[in-house]
Amino acid sequence: MRIVLFGPPGSGKGTQGELMAKRTGFPRISTGDLLRTAVQKRTPIGRQAEAVMKEGRLVSDEIVTGLVRERLADPDCRGGYILDGFPRTIAQAEALAFLDGERPEVVIGIEVPAEVLIDRLSGRRICSSCQAVYNLALQPPRLEGRCDLCQGPLVQRPDDTPEVIRERIRVYHEQTERLKDHYLRRGSYRAVDGGGTIEEIFQRIVRLLDGEIGMSGRKWVRA
Ligand code: AMP
Repeated sequence: MRIVLFGPPGSGKGTQGELMAKRTGFPRISTGDLLRTAVQKRTPIGRQAEAVMKEGRLVSDEIVTGLVRERLADPDCRGGYILDGFPRTIAQAEALAFLDGERPEVVIGIEVPAEVLIDRLSGRRICSSCQAVYNLALQPPRLEGRCDLCQGPLVQRPDDTPEVIRERIRVYHEQTERLKDHYLRRGSYRAVDGGGTIEEIFQRIVRLLDGEIGMSGRKWVRA
């Protein structure tokens, strides 16, 4: 099973993806995290991607698809995986179908009104060591400025400033939103109301996947 988390920046894909990974045992693969790690490590890909990411634009399909191809070859992806932030263009969706087309797929579209996105993104903080995500209003850390999991310092992502947030939402409408129709036509798109608390949204996703996979939530967990 492949689960694709789809939605605009700030819709909660990362947070929900983490909860789903715990529940299913499938790894969450976030292309944003893979790219941020490459930037931190100053790899050739990281150096190419850094400026583009800072401006809120999309990194090239070749680079991102290459990262996903490598990651999907890891043994922990054999039973299934959760994609967060990929695909973002039709070319990426086609590349994914080419890479691993036989696998059953469900696309979960987290739908959130535009005004909520800006609030959520401006309150977001991430751990600079382990990339765990917090939100000052919705999910604050226990100790101000410190990660609950590894005590690393929390920082604001360089692309979570108001101008870059606006650009990322614009890019979403221009290049990514059309994927919804693409997946609707294929019959794999399922809309989830992305309003409310983290737990409320997660329960909607759990209900949807329980119906979709035809199993009780508990049984998704792999040994
Ligand atoms: P995210 O963490 O998903 O919000 O991604 C952060 C940034 O990484 C995006 O604004 C893009 O610059 C880049 N990025 C992440 N995933 C992709 C993708 N699938 N295609 C192109 N660029 C991406």
